[in-house]
Amino acid sequence: MSQPSTNIFRESLVNKQEFTITYELVPGRGSGGKKLDKILELAENAKDDGRIKAFSITDNPGGHPALAPTSLGLDIQAMGISPLLHFSLKDKNRNMAESQLFECHRHDLLNLLVLGGDYPRYGYHGQAMPVFDLDSTQLLSLIDHLRHHSAVEKGAPGQAMDLPRIDFFAGCVVSPFKTLESEQVWQYVKLLTKIQCGAQFVISQLGYDMIKYDELIRLTRDQHLDIPIIANVFVPSLIVARVMNKGRVPGVILPDKLLQHMEDEAQSRDKGEEARLLRAAKMIAALREMGYAGIHLGGNNLDFDKISFLLDKAEEFNRKGQREEVHFPEPFTWYLHEDCRRTPKKRKLPFLFSVNDLVHRQVFNKTGILFPIAKKISLAAMKNQCFNRLYTMFEHLCKKLLFHCRMCGDCTLAESAYLCPQSGCPKRMVNGPCGGSLNGFCEVYPNQRLCFWVRSYHRGREPDCHDLHALKSLPPKDWSLDRTSSWLNYFSGKDHHGRKNQH
Ligand code: SF4
Repeated sequence: MSQPSTNIFRESLVNKQEFTITYELVPGRGSGGKKLDKILELAENAKDDGRIKAFSITDNPGGHPALAPTSLGLDIQAMGISPLLHFSLKDKNRNMAESQLFECHRHDLLNLLVLGGDYPRYGYHGQAMPVFDLDSTQLLSLIDHLRHHSAVEKGAPGQAMDLPRIDFFAGCVVSPFKTLESEQVWQYVKLLTKIQCGAQFVISQLGYDMIKYDELIRLTRDQHLDIPIIANVFVPSLIVARVMNKGRVPGVILPDKLLQHMEDEAQSRDKGEEARLLRAAKMIAALREMGYAGIHLGGNNLDFDKISFLLDKAEEFNRKGQREEVHFPEPFTWYLHEDCRRTPKKRKLPFLFSVNDLVHRQVFNKTGILFPIAKKISLAAMKNQCFNRLYTMFEHLCKKLLFHCRMCGDCTLAESAYLCPQSGCPKRMVNGPCGGSLNGFCEVYPNQRLCFWVRSYHRGREPDCHDLHALKSLPPKDWSLDRTSSWLNYFSGKDHHGRKNQH
């Protein structure tokens, strides 16, 4: 087992006097080669310079296979720099996630950035299977559990065994750059849920709208959250900027106005390189002034000389405010503070939602008129195999017709405005959206299908992000319930209602 090394990243980030700089490394497919050599060279130079406190390492970025972040993490650690491993959930189920957490602990790789991840794309012989067994809130809860509890949970094999407590330093991501109210409110609700689940720091999505960056800081201050927030500053080349502008990078917005600037700058002798670096330096200065705890730097075609130039300039600009010069908003963007929405607005609920909600409450709430009879029938069905089958078929028929039900056995319809996330969301997110939507459309079906959580926002009650303690994450689904009756599982206490009460 590796000897614990000093966690420079953690020490820097928890020290409120320091402005922490991290840099994102993107290992490609394969275990070596020129790309990796360049990355290691950059890291060596950064170590001598000392300003970068951690290198974050992506985990199969863009949904494509790449070198595992633990591998490059160990190389970076051996150089004496803190690695910050991205830990995404698109390719691993909960057991693989737990297994990799133990691996990280064994190698003293304790800084993790927890994220759902982009939808899997091309892999060996075609598109990979999207896993998403846990979402980021659920993985953060697992990490929090490993941080604070030493015993394996009740009912698990080996429950008598004590696990070592693991002092992970785990962060999460959020996008303040969504253009629609429905997308943005959900992003903030999910952020607050992630913090409730144990996130210890936050890194924003990359963006170029300075009011949005400011809004994120103001939100955490309004909520009296004492958690370091790191702003993502990305320096794209012109080619990458064009791709981002077309909406081809999940969840990323690069406005037309900024692209036009970059096209004009590209006419200069250096093809706009210095202008791009200076813009990033000004952004860093403005973000520092706003109160960010640090920046998460990234870019393509950056070597250490360019990074060093950029950081030097950011220090010079620190004495002046540069916010207006680097503010590139999307037209018609919704802003939280402009809307002055401190409490949820009262709005008329759609008829369909109201009917579903009424029926649900009468049948499944203990005080509902139909609850006693529904429970009695369900208990009878549990005792008779034939009746059980008929009961399950009846449930399937009703819910398939009404909600496109997939019989997952642990129904969360009531928690998502009576829309089914198992059939409506390609990542099966049950605790709020991923970060991949663009202008309200799903990351997986751009300009075709609205994000499931956007539809849920308009169909049900507005999520309440002003009461932090009311935000709870649904536990992971128990896969032994798949294809069984969720009604029976509810009345027998096997579904998430029953399991929530056990913890
Ligand atoms: S429906 Fe929304 S939450 Fe689900 S994958 Fe698409 S963008 Fe993400």
